[in-house]
Amino acid sequence: MREYTEKTVGCPHCGHSIRITLDASNGSQEFYDDCPACCHAIHLNMMVDEQADKIELVVDADDEQIF
Ligand SMILES: [Zn+2]
Repeated sequence: MREYTEKTVGCPHCGHSIRITLDASNGSQEFYDDCPACCHAIHLNMMVDEQADKIELVVDADDEQIF
């Protein structure tokens, strides 16, 4: 299984595209990153599906805002 994957996500605050390198070797995890354009925190939720050899990334703002 590939352990490192690059994904491009859109900032939930301003829409800026951010490239993120994911390390799937530790399994599913949640983490935060700061948007380089608007400096808001972005909540990233990585789900590793080892059986399907697939990584899913869910991005949302940290403020319960629904789009
Ligand atoms: Zn942003």
